[in-house]
Amino acid sequence: MKTSLKPWINDLPDYVAGRTVEEIKRKYGLASVYKLASNENLFGPCGKVKETLKECIGSVNYYPDSDTYEIRTAIADKFNISKDNIIMGDGTDQVIEMICDCFIDRQDNIVTGDPNFLIYEKSALISGGSAKKVPLRPDFSQDIKSMLNAADSNTKAIFIASPHNPSGTIISKEDFEYLLKYAGRNILIIMDEAYYEYMPPQKQLDTVSYLSGNPNLIVLRTFSKIYSLAGLRIGYGIANTEIITGLNKIRLPFNVSSMAQKAACAALADEGYILKIRDIISGERDKFYSAFKEAGIGYVESFANFVLIKTGEKSGDIVEELLKNGFIVRPGVNLGLPGYIRVTLATPEIDDKFLKVFMVIYKKLYQG
Ligand code: PMP
Repeated sequence: MKTSLKPWINDLPDYVAGRTVEEIKRKYGLASVYKLASNENLFGPCGKVKETLKECIGSVNYYPDSDTYEIRTAIADKFNISKDNIIMGDGTDQVIEMICDCFIDRQDNIVTGDPNFLIYEKSALISGGSAKKVPLRPDFSQDIKSMLNAADSNTKAIFIASPHNPSGTIISKEDFEYLLKYAGRNILIIMDEAYYEYMPPQKQLDTVSYLSGNPNLIVLRTFSKIYSLAGLRIGYGIANTEIITGLNKIRLPFNVSSMAQKAACAALADEGYILKIRDIISGERDKFYSAFKEAGIGYVESFANFVLIKTGEKSGDIVEELLKNGFIVRPGVNLGLPGYIRVTLATPEIDDKFLKVFMVIYKKLYQG
């Protein structure tokens, strides 16, 4: 039998996932390793989520609710929308994939930032389309006007993220409204808000309220970040019912596990816990900024639970030294930003340990 891959599959970019704790423990013989490479919430989920998960164990022999009724109802109540405006995915990644599967054909393209979260581009390429990538502005924000200029008659979607990964910058209200106004109704605008809950309230745009006037808008959220359920894989998209109906046509049955659905309901119910984490992380960001300012090290001001640090030409050595000391961070070179490293903000204790080790390594490498 002679099988053949679709011609573009071999050329797909690889998503380089963060290294695992066990791998680094083994490699360097370390007793404790901190993973600060994938923007997970190191506080873990709230107590009610843990209890709920224990209760769920007894029913894992059953398939989950394919309709995801309970969690969609809870999300609909939160946003004061209909549950028919919501699609659940096995992580937001899957919702992005479904959007590209439904809307991107072979001659089509998407427009996104360069860099941006890789899955936008990868999903467009898997669908047989292409990606036009528009460099960030010098302050690392997404260049909305240039993205609009890059769009052509084959552009089906513009993917933006606020906060943006890997920089942590956000999109202003003016830029967001400009994009909606000038993109035209034939182009989908996908606003990825994976890190939304980490933003200070005065910066949080009520993007869902724009749905009624903009039938081409899709808002993405996830339970992987501040809700701390990354390992369970559950995220969602909000859009008009026509888009949601289309996405549901290709959604695989039972695409979100029962544990994930139940845990997400419990996580959503404890808003106080989320606000507490947001405030702690905001303090941790400030702590990082003060330390870098004092040491004369550059960084990008972030609105998420990670910070991009300007580590210069010795970034590779810094990443390696950090690994030897039990800290896994994400090299900027893997994210399209050589000369930087991206570090997840963890707990105050872990962050203090990180800053201490990082400063020693940085000074040793640059000041001898
Ligand atoms: N969007 C952005 C901007 C992200 O950084 C991530 C996760 N790294 C995702 C989406 C995907 O999240 P999920 O775990 O829900 O698939």
